[in-house]
Amino acid sequence: MSVPPGVSERDFQRAVARFESVVGAEWVFTSDEDVALYRDAYSPFVGEAQEKVASAAVAPQSAEQVQEIVRIANEFRIPLYPISTGRNLGYGGSAPVLSGSVVLDLKRMNRILEVDERNAYALVEPGVSYFDLYRHIEERGLKLWIDCPDPGWGSVIGNALDHGVGYTMNPYRDHWGAQCGLEVVTGDGELVRTGMGALPGSRTWQQFKYGFGPYLDGIFSQSNFGVVTKMGVWLMPQPEAYVDCTVEVFGHDDIVPLVDHMNYIMNTGLQNAGTNLQSPIRFAAAANPELRAALASSDPAEIAKLNAFARERGVPFYSNIFKFYGPEEVVRAQLEYTRRRLSSIPGARVRDGAFYRFPITAEQKATVRDPQDLGIPTLETFSIGARSNFAPATRGHLGFSPVIPMRGEDVIESQRVFQRVLQEFGTDVALLVFPQSYHPRTFVILCMFYVMPDAAHNDAVRRTFKRLVEVAAEHGWGEYRTHTAFMDDCAAAYSFNDHALRKLQEKIKDAVDPNGVLSAGRYGIWPQHLRKG
Ligand SMILES: Cc1cc2nc3c(=O)[nH]c(=O)nc-3n(C[C@H](O)[C@H](O)[C@H](O)COP(=O)(O)OP(=O)(O)OC[C@H]3O[C@@H](n4cnc5c(N)ncnc54)[C@H](O)[C@@H]3O)c2cc1C
Repeated sequence: MSVPPGVSERDFQRAVARFESVVGAEWVFTSDEDVALYRDAYSPFVGEAQEKVASAAVAPQSAEQVQEIVRIANEFRIPLYPISTGRNLGYGGSAPVLSGSVVLDLKRMNRILEVDERNAYALVEPGVSYFDLYRHIEERGLKLWIDCPDPGWGSVIGNALDHGVGYTMNPYRDHWGAQCGLEVVTGDGELVRTGMGALPGSRTWQQFKYGFGPYLDGIFSQSNFGVVTKMGVWLMPQPEAYVDCTVEVFGHDDIVPLVDHMNYIMNTGLQNAGTNLQSPIRFAAAANPELRAALASSDPAEIAKLNAFARERGVPFYSNIFKFYGPEEVVRAQLEYTRRRLSSIPGARVRDGAFYRFPITAEQKATVRDPQDLGIPTLETFSIGARSNFAPATRGHLGFSPVIPMRGEDVIESQRVFQRVLQEFGTDVALLVFPQSYHPRTFVILCMFYVMPDAAHNDAVRRTFKRLVEVAAEHGWGEYRTHTAFMDDCAAAYSFNDHALRKLQEKIKDAVDPNGVLSAGRYGIWPQHLRKG
């Protein structure tokens, strides 16, 4: 049995015995075999001494048991690492940031406490997965949709706390944005309800976010100030219909009006679902070194070559899928308006896509192209490769994901800047994916790194990733979320006024978790005794 850092073996044995007295011996895991299940299957340190690993795990069944465990951890200074379903692949899995932490596994707390159809919300515990909530709604025939990320096996709470994203409309696809009301055990063992939940007998905990006084919910996301034991989530009323279309444009600079129209359409609420911006010419370039070089260049002659290729071969420079949810007559009118608006770009082509009227049949459900667009959880994303989306030989992936303004010029600039870094460090470590419209007004650039069971390759991944973080910061772009291996690097970039934000986060950390027992190092926030300089 390994021991958390700074804790004697004797104290650890005593703490484990106390954990057992709270949850039962069968729910405390200390054997190597059991603890290995909490390793990060996508770790960029696999097989190396720096791999982050847990020392043990404990699985409570209630908020009261969580409080007891946190109090015991305070007594013995045991670092805890709470997870909900622990499937945070690409961002650290269920392994702690601080090696030797005890994983606080909340999977057993999996009750769906309430689903309200008329106000369209649910109140859930951490172990509730997207599949669980979907099935619960289906079994009761409620006219509600969930919004889920690509893998449906993750938890509604864990994904939201990490600022995860899905595919339907705003605010549902921004999973933290759709959150309303928390119950939290803070690092000192106190049980707190946020927003209207602080009012005993409140009847609007899951409907009104702000409560009274400072709005604190945000400090519990991407942080380590508390263990969330309940969360409210807004659900989408089942729309009457869905329709989508693909817009294709053929010139290098057409990205500018394409994205401007996209902004207008999204920010006026005509369409406020995620879109799917792609650059088909980039796929063509994968097999054509000349095109690849031209794409990284800002030389007008090279760009003219690309424009000629796109127009002559009919390969769009850019394409974007627009999705509409609502009454049939409304979504058809929205699509027509989009078609008319986008046709002002010379040469633009609009292709009709899918149309569904709800509820859909079982047959339609089985054949839908992207089930997540219709709030249906799946694990299909894993079918593309054995361990990740990209190539079966890889062990997994992790994403470098900075936020850039939703403007065509920024898309062109960021692609060039990041492609240059990849060329410098080796393009075989990562794939630069086109910008994702996870949130209004910004794009998230995704640069997907392959992780392999190969230390030299993973070392190149880590060096390239760190360089990209630096280069992004030099251009005013910061990460929205990251793997545990890079949390310190990404947080360090948010350095305005001598790291004033980090200092404020540390003050809060010291106040609500004075012994620093919760998730040390998560999002670059370290407890006092582990702070470096
Ligand atoms: C192929 C692939 C596709 C993916 N696609 C998407 C996608 O479309 N969208 C997306 O958002 N993600 C995506 N991911 C990333 C990830 O798989 C999901 O976000 C997944 O839902 C996260 O796992 P989880 O829900 O089990 O969260 P957890 O692992 O339970 O939680 C994540 C982290 O939040 C903290 N935490 C969790 N619960 C608590 C709690 N109760 N109290 C305090 N802290 C807590 C912990 O630090 C934990 O490590 C993808 C991953 C892969 C491999």
